[in-house]
Amino acid sequence: IGELIIEELEKRVNPIDFKRYIKQLKYNEALSKPHSVVFDTPNALIANWIQSKHAELIATLFEIKTNIKPAISFRISDDEVLLTSFMESSNASKTATIGSPLNPLYTFDNFIVGGSNEFAYRAAIMASKKPGIVYNPLFIHGGVGLGKTHLMHAVGNVLKDYGKEVIYTSVENFLNDFSRYLRIGEMEQFKNKYRKCDLLLIDDVQFLSGKVKVQEEFFHTFEALKNENRQIIITSDQHPKKIKGIEKRLISRFEWGLVADIQSPELETKLEIIKKKCEINRVSFSNDIIQYIATIIENNTREIEGIITKLNAYSQLMGIEVDLEFARSVMKNQIEEKKTEITIDSILELVAKELNVKQSEMRSNNRTVPVVHARRIAIYLSRTLTPNSMPQLASYFGLKDHTAVSHTMKKIKDMMENDDDFKLKIDEMINKISNI
Ligand code: ADP
Ligand code: MG
Repeated sequence: IGELIIEELEKRVNPIDFKRYIKQLKYNEALSKPHSVVFDTPNALIANWIQSKHAELIATLFEIKTNIKPAISFRISDDEVLLTSFMESSNASKTATIGSPLNPLYTFDNFIVGGSNEFAYRAAIMASKKPGIVYNPLFIHGGVGLGKTHLMHAVGNVLKDYGKEVIYTSVENFLNDFSRYLRIGEMEQFKNKYRKCDLLLIDDVQFLSGKVKVQEEFFHTFEALKNENRQIIITSDQHPKKIKGIEKRLISRFEWGLVADIQSPELETKLEIIKKKCEINRVSFSNDIIQYIATIIENNTREIEGIITKLNAYSQLMGIEVDLEFARSVMKNQIEEKKTEITIDSILELVAKELNVKQSEMRSNNRTVPVVHARRIAIYLSRTLTPNSMPQLASYFGLKDHTAVSHTMKKIKDMMENDDDFKLKIDEMINKISNI
């Protein structure tokens, strides 16, 4: 069956993804069961990639063939890490599960703490140390990809290790469970489960908006848990007061415990998160690439993993060391999106100001030392941050040809490698330009 599914996938997935990722999957017959299917993968990157892009499709293909929609796990061959896809088992399955599995990689250890998230982090630590007692509920809010789910799973992983009953669920999942148990007339079982757990994690609660029936059920669940000092953690993209379409009595309860927000990460935090993700995925990139990735992603930390996967996959497939040029070419799309923001002119303007030279001098054939230096930096930044090709840059800066540009790139890179102060200066400029 595994081979059949992979053949089916070939018809549905774009050929490049198929060749790069899917083809490397091996169905593990020994470990697979009807409700839980295991694929071996060569590394965590590929496992992550397929999990995020195609796990749902794979499960659905199984469902078509077997009438059972299984959970899909990806086994990384050389160690035992299992990545179970986050999906509830199908209605067809009799072993109704409640909630979704916790991501074992979302731990406190793997969470980078910075000014932007320290408050929420400390609150989550407290909740894991004294569940149900200090902050109940703990309400974490913030924009997409800022680590809300990660933090709530981290609390869940700690309590699970202590043998506590932990339920992690989305609003949708809660709703599905609710309807399913209602349909089969087993509401008692539903209540027993949700109201008797030690920790209930409800992710993205803003989706309760407008759903009157679930709100009602959730309200009673909340009351029951709260009365028995069982910990509740809730996340949302907004402060409780700003969520629309949710009953007043629920909103007021959201604020009973502690409301903590997560802000966009500072550059430092972002860099550390990227390094952490590299470490977890067992890849290493030089500092300039890490810096570069940080400039590409705005706030949504979720993109980091995708970028690392992409860079690594390309470099493996093509047998090339990832260097800045290479990263640049692979990341073209992301850059393209930023093109509107960063132009050579805005770079020239900044360099002129920072180094006290005139913009026009940088584009002239002025050969004085300060101007040559400023011109080189401007070229380096333009090549790194804008989609212009080397010949385009050569003509813009009045150089002979593209080899002069590539010579300049090398020169600046060497200087950055040998002079930490200089590197810092460049990093600062990149940061300033990226935040215009
Ligand atoms: P949210 O739920 O707020 O949308 P997630 O918790 O799903 O965001 O985080 C998105 C990705 O970014 C995850 O891979 C998560 O591990 C990572 N991430 C976010 N913040 C941090 C952090 N401070 N340290 C480490 N990883 C982080
Ligand atoms: Mg989330």
